[in-house]
Amino acid sequence: MKTNFASRVLRWFDQHGRHDLPWQKKRTLYRVWVSEIMLQQTQVKTVIPYYKKFMQRFPDVKRLAGASQDEVLQYWAGLGYYSRGRNLHKAAQLIAEQHGGRVPRTSEALIALPGIGRSTAAAILSQALDQRQVILDGNVKRVLSRYRMVEGWPGNKAVEQQLWHIAEELTPSGRNADYTQAIMDMGATLCTRSKPACDDCPVSKDCMALAADDVGSYPAKKPKKVLPVKQTRLLILIDQQGAILLEKRPPTGIWGGLWSLPEVDPQQDIATTCQQRWGLELTHHEESPVFRHSFSHYHLDIRPSRCQIVDQKNAIRSEGELMWCKPQQTDFPAVAAPVAKLLAAVHD
Ligand code: SF4
Repeated sequence: MKTNFASRVLRWFDQHGRHDLPWQKKRTLYRVWVSEIMLQQTQVKTVIPYYKKFMQRFPDVKRLAGASQDEVLQYWAGLGYYSRGRNLHKAAQLIAEQHGGRVPRTSEALIALPGIGRSTAAAILSQALDQRQVILDGNVKRVLSRYRMVEGWPGNKAVEQQLWHIAEELTPSGRNADYTQAIMDMGATLCTRSKPACDDCPVSKDCMALAADDVGSYPAKKPKKVLPVKQTRLLILIDQQGAILLEKRPPTGIWGGLWSLPEVDPQQDIATTCQQRWGLELTHHEESPVFRHSFSHYHLDIRPSRCQIVDQKNAIRSEGELMWCKPQQTDFPAVAAPVAKLLAAVHD
């Protein structure tokens, strides 16, 4: 069964798999590592343009380690899950300090770096060095859950452990880079979440979920829990020249390290807060409609308030953790998606 599964997957890959992705050319540990981090939770077609720009600016570990976090996040802005960008940058600095600028070649050393888990480390070593490694990302979990009708939500530790065993059993000893790419491609293009193309699948003849005509039940969905709702207020502080105040967020927490519209307690009086926090005087302010931004662990209801200020000259300057920005300026710093949406609407 083992050789059989892998050889069918590889035959399919030779004909239908993806062979010309940017990170498949000039395969180095660095180039593959960056691609694997970008591909976590993000589709290939979204990643490609970001990857190309990133590689132009940061072609090696040294250049990435030497950049500021602000600049790295600028190249990440729009990809989401910003902790991936922060961790990539931090890991590059650790590689420069502890490994002489060379990306480690063992899974233990890779896993010790921020942002690299067991499956990502395996994918990097398999794709870059063709080492025999076993991967289990979200796509592979879906294929294997269906192929072997594995009960339970793959986020559950025991279920995940079972899937690792199956992945280990089915992974061949030869052509490892092709096999790991093939099984990821199968999950992304054939064995998709909602409309799997079982007719075209190379392992359909012994796929247990298909035989039971129950593909839709695998993998089991995450048990539902009601997410809490939090409230916040973002201030759009505009001076008489149309410049808007941005504040840098703390390095951890939501949108960590990104620039943002200042966040204030929705219960507090806006004029008093502006006076106390920044020495700014308001002429007037108006409320915009509340909108919801959802994270994996809670919903955030954002109440934007547009505030016209009298004069910023005697108050804060563009330095440190604060800056005044014109929405049309070209070197705009990295901001999270809901903040970008609010900034874009300011002069509409
Ligand atoms: S036969 Fe269908 S459900 Fe089974 S692995 Fe292939 S695509 Fe997925």
